[in-house]
Amino acid sequence: MGGLEEGENMEFVYIIRFGEIWIKGKNRRFFEQTLEQNIRRTLEGAGRNAKLERERGRLYAVESAESPKETLELLSRIPGIVSVSVGVECEKTVKSLAENGLALMKRMGIVPLSFKVESKRADKTFPIPSPQLSREVAEYLLTHGLDVKVDVHHPQMVFGVEIQQNGAYAFCKTLRGARGLPVGVSGKVAVLLSGGIDSPVAGYLMQRRGATVEPIYFHGFPFTSDMVKNKVARLAKKLAFYQKSLTLQIVNFTPVLTALKQKCPEKFTIIVMRRFMVRIAGEIAKKTGCRALVTGDNLGQVASQTLDNLECVTDVSPMMILRPLLSFDKFEIIEQAKRIGTYEISIEPHEDCCSLFVPKFPEIYGKLEEAREAEAGMDIEALVTECVETVEKMDF
Ligand code: ATP
Ligand code: MG
Repeated sequence: MGGLEEGENMEFVYIIRFGEIWIKGKNRRFFEQTLEQNIRRTLEGAGRNAKLERERGRLYAVESAESPKETLELLSRIPGIVSVSVGVECEKTVKSLAENGLALMKRMGIVPLSFKVESKRADKTFPIPSPQLSREVAEYLLTHGLDVKVDVHHPQMVFGVEIQQNGAYAFCKTLRGARGLPVGVSGKVAVLLSGGIDSPVAGYLMQRRGATVEPIYFHGFPFTSDMVKNKVARLAKKLAFYQKSLTLQIVNFTPVLTALKQKCPEKFTIIVMRRFMVRIAGEIAKKTGCRALVTGDNLGQVASQTLDNLECVTDVSPMMILRPLLSFDKFEIIEQAKRIGTYEISIEPHEDCCSLFVPKFPEIYGKLEEAREAEAGMDIEALVTECVETVEKMDF
């Protein structure tokens, strides 16, 4: 393996670790199977030709490729994976582990200033105990091309060695995974997806706890242009990466917006608009078997997100409303949005129907009775029915 030329394929083994080990029994099997399916689907979808093997509490993906970069990155984004290393399969000898590991480093262009070896011996029939194995592999590396400092406290590279029942592996790069639970183990929720920064992150965080998401977008053409629809579709596609399939439901919200303009006291337009959103989303969500609504609400961020106003909205929801970002700091939300690739899309300028309807003096501490009173002139049932029946669907 050491004599491989640049450009030639090399066989990489990805060591996939998953956590939440307190999940036991049947759940654990379900968890592992779902994770395995998600990995398989993601790799196939990206055209990566990797073979998956399950081995007690671990998954291994074996792939013959020129570079492991893309697969490593894909794996690190899949919820349920704690960490993933790229390595090579070796014989169970110090020489093979060190030499194959060096070839891997060369292929990946890894030239560390310091390193340490970490060994794990699951196969107890292998005669060398872990600490001694680490020392022997380190010595071999030091005298065969890796002439750099050993630093056991802050190494620039950890050279990993694993002796498992089914084989031995050397690896030199480990990425932290997305963690959380595999998408699909926690049921289904409907995400109210706007074109903003927050709601895609809220959706992703629910996916990361194992939920499958169904985004619902309220489109108010011509108050909002079709460019916003396109933007939301691109955001939905980002979330689609994490699950088997995803359907974006687009509500034609214009009848409600028109009625709001005519019949709702200006001060209450946002609160009443939100009440309509959760009523309509709730009905759509019920039809598709969703158990909860999810929003990107963030306490105190804007006038509509005070406890009073959130209460006014919760009041009319036919199901739970989950608000995973409620306590987040805006910087944390932005960081997460950047990580999942939605930030760049979200910050494209757009007119959202809410910003067009934001009154000069919005009600900040809406009282329930006042909110109910504010919408009294509108035909709530007819509007909800109309919106639910005219939904447009987009599959990803
Ligand atoms: P975001 O970045 O998600 O747009 P925001 O800070 O702009 O959030 P608001 O506009 O007040 O907040 O909206 C709060 C939440 O209401 C959003 O996170 C989203 O879940 C939902 N929402 C708002 N507008 C829409 C819309 N047009 N379609 C679907 N959901 C919406
Ligand atoms: Mg918004």
